[in-house]
Amino acid sequence: MKYQVVLFYKYTKIEDPESEMDYQINLLKKLNLSARMIVAEEGINGNFEGSPENTEKYIEIMSKREGFKDTHWKRSEGNGNAFPGIRVKVRPEILSIDLGEEDFDPNEISGDYISAEELHELYEKGEEFYVVDMRNEFEHKVGFFDESIKMPFKALRELPEKMDMLNHLKNKKVITVCTGGVKCEKASGYLKKQGFTDVHQLHGGIHDYIEKFPNQHFKGKLYVYDGRVVMGFELDAPEHQVVSNCDKCGETSDNYVDCTYLHCKGHRHFVCCDNCLEKDGTAFCSDNCKELAYADKKIFVRQ
Ligand SMILES: [Zn+2]
Ligand SMILES: [Zn+2]
Repeated sequence: MKYQVVLFYKYTKIEDPESEMDYQINLLKKLNLSARMIVAEEGINGNFEGSPENTEKYIEIMSKREGFKDTHWKRSEGNGNAFPGIRVKVRPEILSIDLGEEDFDPNEISGDYISAEELHELYEKGEEFYVVDMRNEFEHKVGFFDESIKMPFKALRELPEKMDMLNHLKNKKVITVCTGGVKCEKASGYLKKQGFTDVHQLHGGIHDYIEKFPNQHFKGKLYVYDGRVVMGFELDAPEHQVVSNCDKCGETSDNYVDCTYLHCKGHRHFVCCDNCLEKDGTAFCSDNCKELAYADKKIFVRQ
């Protein structure tokens, strides 16, 4: 392995986010890591990439700090282009899921953790439980848990208005899942606040499950917010399945592209197979975008 990507988040009190930001930038520079990170008073949410030695060094240094000792670090192989550089920002929250008037602090209420091993066992035993995928539509399109309820979100803030999809599960065993776990801190807490009695959140997220149980009850690939776009473990194994289709021709594909039309308002980010890409030479999500692009001459910025 030449590059390693690490994902983490930690809810822990940061007294001075500005100076924490400076500390992070210095540390990342010193270790020659690229990164995208949000620092807030409530904690840090970060992803970074670099050589295996240096990423481990970062983990070692951070793990010694008060508040970060029990951080769950999620490691996977990188490609050297996961992040364009170092971007660390101070924000009011580490994950902005504005639930409006119903907003709350996940430190106050949250679902109990369930480990990847425990979830796997539930599947193997065939017990009654319901996995609720709290990620966005384009994320669960390319990978999802068996029999999971995939919330039709553009963003998690739509959860309150989509509760009629879940209200029949108030007294059932519900397990919320997301990429690395941070969304579930809030999503599972929200369900509890709505009177759900048996709510759990997958600790370490889907990332942790597929690392321990590749190509088992989670099918497809995991969408990630870095240069890899989708990732997984043991993707060359014969059991690995591609579960999504090209939005243009319907062929099996999980290749995400951005619509070539710069001002696309529809399917900016969509699945397009290699054949369609090659045939068209461009990646317009629709004929409408193609027409607008040529009329506008604002085209040809293929990603
Ligand atoms: Zn196609
Ligand atoms: Zn478009």
